[in-house]
Amino acid sequence: MLQLGKSEKAFEEAKRYMPGGVNSPVRSYRSVGSNPPFISSASGSRIYDIDNNEYIDYVLSWGPMILGHANPEVIASLQEAIPRGTSYGAPTLLETELAKKIQAFMPSMEMVRLVSSGTESTMSALRVARGYTGRDRIVKFVGCYHGHSDALLVKAGSGLATFGVPDSPGVPKGVAENTITLPYNDIDAITKLFNEIGDTIAAVIVEPVAGNMGCVPPVPGFLEALRTLTKEHGSVLIFDEVMCGFRASSGGAQKLYNIKPDLTCLGKIVGGGMPMAVFGGSAKIMSEIAPSGPIYQAGTLSGNPIAVTSGLATLSILQRDPTIFKQVEEATKTLCEGYERLAAQYNVPVVVQRVGSMFTVFFTDKPVHNFDDASQCNEAHFKIFFHHNLSHGIYMAPSPYESNFVSICHKHSEIERTLAVAEEAFKIISNHV
Ligand SMILES: *Cc1c(COP(=O)(O)O)cnc(C)c1O
Repeated sequence: MLQLGKSEKAFEEAKRYMPGGVNSPVRSYRSVGSNPPFISSASGSRIYDIDNNEYIDYVLSWGPMILGHANPEVIASLQEAIPRGTSYGAPTLLETELAKKIQAFMPSMEMVRLVSSGTESTMSALRVARGYTGRDRIVKFVGCYHGHSDALLVKAGSGLATFGVPDSPGVPKGVAENTITLPYNDIDAITKLFNEIGDTIAAVIVEPVAGNMGCVPPVPGFLEALRTLTKEHGSVLIFDEVMCGFRASSGGAQKLYNIKPDLTCLGKIVGGGMPMAVFGGSAKIMSEIAPSGPIYQAGTLSGNPIAVTSGLATLSILQRDPTIFKQVEEATKTLCEGYERLAAQYNVPVVVQRVGSMFTVFFTDKPVHNFDDASQCNEAHFKIFFHHNLSHGIYMAPSPYESNFVSICHKHSEIERTLAVAEEAFKIISNHV
């Protein structure tokens, strides 16, 4: 059985110094009613805690580690970079190289700006959209999470839903007022809104594959409708591909569904595990940013040489061997099909949703198209599944409203082991009902 003595102690101490003992809420395990393992190291598909437990990791730092933890080539490039200094606050060759590489994966990103977190990237993309259009209103979808900036912390996804907080104190009413929220995948709702007030909307921001209410693909026609409506009304279409960017396909959701957004936000994989994110898109819009245009945006550590090195090394490996995307997707598919087969065998109502190498096991009997559907899921079943996994060395997201991820290091034998543990969990759940 799982021993977490040192982690329990560490958590008690951490709680005295940090709110809830953590630096990001979902890490606290509050929604699964237990305490989190404290991590000491990670390598390949494995993550280790301070009690010397070893887990097969499907969280992967919430997505970034598609090459597995501590990829030798990425680590070597960091070791080479660090002695040259960790920050200059001045231009480097690396930044242009990374910008070119990003454009090779996503041609819609004609110009980019590097920032330090996904939150910063979506916040800045919105300012650019508002500055460019001269309009204030934005549209987001319920259950999509775009980071924690004021304008976007309105009916956001996983973290908030998990904690049952519909909104956050500290977000000014005046800011929230300009954020219109609609159900995800509801083509009629967005069409009606644009017919009424489309000409006052600066931007529509969307996770083109939602990952923050669990993995929810766009229904056919949804992204197409967003593209058509925003174009007709002069609004900016922002794809927040921070999570799905190098997960849905090599070129993200925009390549998979063949839709060209005006602006794209990237994070997670693009930094290869370092704090880095990007926003970018049409040169016409991006040229409005200072110093070439009037819209202000800046960052002391933006384009940090260590973070950029990590991102560059990661993208270089992915570019050199594009079969990586296929391999990771295949492994994810095998896992998801296994979950479906075993759940059916034990009569546990489960819907497994997957796009590329991101997936969620929903404990429900009908497809999940939006946040309402996701919140119908059986949380008791999820908790049994989660805890059985954790105590048998399978590390998954501690919330039913999250996506899980697979890396290139997850071997077939590990997928089999994961499914064997899942089978036991489904057996327990089927006896539970
Ligand atoms: C993770 C995430 C963010 C926020 O990124 P941070 O680096 O945590 O600020 C924004 N959008 C999406 C879609 C994400 O998955």
